[in-house]
Amino acid sequence: MIPCKTCENCELILRKKYRMGSLIAFIGLLILFASILGIAVGALLVVESVPLAEEWMEDFRLDAESRMMAAGISRDLVGQVLDSRVLRPTDLERLSPVQAQLAEEVSSELKEPPMRDFSYEVGRSMLRTSLVGALLALLLRLRKVVLQCATCQAVVAAS
Ligand SMILES: [Zn+2]
Repeated sequence: MIPCKTCENCELILRKKYRMGSLIAFIGLLILFASILGIAVGALLVVESVPLAEEWMEDFRLDAESRMMAAGISRDLVGQVLDSRVLRPTDLERLSPVQAQLAEEVSSELKEPPMRDFSYEVGRSMLRTSLVGALLALLLRLRKVVLQCATCQAVVAAS
């Protein structure tokens, strides 16, 4: 058994101490709580915006369908455009220039990713910031093993 360097007659016990001190570790705990809250809220905002994007897509498809039907494009070709299938040259010949342009317009808009709303963007940046925060908090709360005297509390760093 190694004796204490200060009082020389007692046992040293293994203790875990915060590397940055307990005040910084406490601040780390607060940051950790805030980050967990941020991750929860951010995830909620992102998840909530998915049905909104789907709803927007559905609205767009219905609107595009009625626009193409109103322009006199046959139902099977309207279905093909909405299914993002490329129209065959023989099908394109059946369309007037105006109809072909409309079909082209719709199919290129369908390739665009569905519009995301504001809450998705906020939620995503919140998630990113909170993940970085949680990582920082864990760094602030890193611990090290030290040897501490059972009587005089003197601390010797363990190798
Ligand atoms: Zn001691």
